[in-house]
Amino acid sequence: MIPLMRPNLSEEDISSVVSVLRSGMLIQGREVEKLEKQMSDLTGASHAAAVSNGTATLHLALIALDIGPGDEVIVPAFSYVATANVVELVGAKCVFVDIDIRTFNINATKIEDAITPATKAIIPVHEFGLSADISEIMSIAQKHGLFVIEDAACALGATENGKAVGSFGHFGSFSLHPRKAITSGEGGVLTTSDASLHKKITILRNHGIEMQDGKMQFVAAGFNYRLTDFQAALVNSQMARLAAQIEYKQCLAEVYFRELTSDAFMLPSVPAGKNHTWQTFHVVVDDQLNRDEVISYLKEKNIGSNYGAQCIPAQIYYREKYSLDSEKLFPNAWRAFKQGLAIPLYELLNEEDIIYISKCLNNY
Ligand SMILES: *Cc1c(COP(=O)(O)O)cnc(C)c1O
Repeated sequence: MIPLMRPNLSEEDISSVVSVLRSGMLIQGREVEKLEKQMSDLTGASHAAAVSNGTATLHLALIALDIGPGDEVIVPAFSYVATANVVELVGAKCVFVDIDIRTFNINATKIEDAITPATKAIIPVHEFGLSADISEIMSIAQKHGLFVIEDAACALGATENGKAVGSFGHFGSFSLHPRKAITSGEGGVLTTSDASLHKKITILRNHGIEMQDGKMQFVAAGFNYRLTDFQAALVNSQMARLAAQIEYKQCLAEVYFRELTSDAFMLPSVPAGKNHTWQTFHVVVDDQLNRDEVISYLKEKNIGSNYGAQCIPAQIYYREKYSLDSEKLFPNAWRAFKQGLAIPLYELLNEEDIIYISKCLNNY
């Protein structure tokens, strides 16, 4: 069986966790600090805060930016639903913008139409490991005085014109879920180059605690959104392989581009100036075919696959709250949700696996 995803954990990765367990320092110790340092080095953002998961990083970012009731936040209509849920959870309103069907990222040319006097922020998603048109989005945000929170959950290591995602916006949010490039089980990291925003995040993730003159003071109604030190150790151990992992996945992606020749599947595009990190290899099944039947067919061939992300306004909660006709208003997000197919691509696969999967799809 070739599952859709399997994290690659070495014996060394596992030992790094065991040594933290043996040390007795289970939270906010040296490994968390090291992870934050590595993430800031990797992204080029001046600060990084380790947090309990990717959704929590987005939630903290919105709270630190004082976004709440009466505010609007622009989110892509196609993403993992967490991108929009956090906006709802702070009491703000989601304003959806359709995606580009070739990249699955927010269509930057449609953002300005969605801006109103109530708009406070944009959350562009670097979907499936490919940078959104982030420089263009930053110019739009600057022009209108908006905050940008990059949802880079899937895109650790992705760049636009050589600059890493997570270093463009006011915040960059990363997930360390097992479905992403490197994992702590559950985990997340929030990057920023603004020292005062970073300070707010470290206070909010830790019960609102600030050290003042060596004394613990409770200066905000915070959360416990901390990451454990043994989780940080697990990621730190994998971090050294990240660049090689991405390069290897890029080679496997080339095999799909060479071997997956059937017209029934539209392959993803990688615009100039961007490196795809291939958190997910996502194709669009021809409209004449039933995507769910393709998933069942692949399962019979011992290949795991799934849809890639949700058309968020079409999900029950959002449909009932916003009553938007997704098929009409966000045709690309709708199509990506209905016909999108994520197929296996990760470190534990080899060229033969990708050829086998491609052959099976070509024969469909
Ligand atoms: C995975 C993911 C998240 C959520 O991350 P968790 O660590 O699972 O909370 C948010 N946004 C996107 C785009 C994701 O892919």
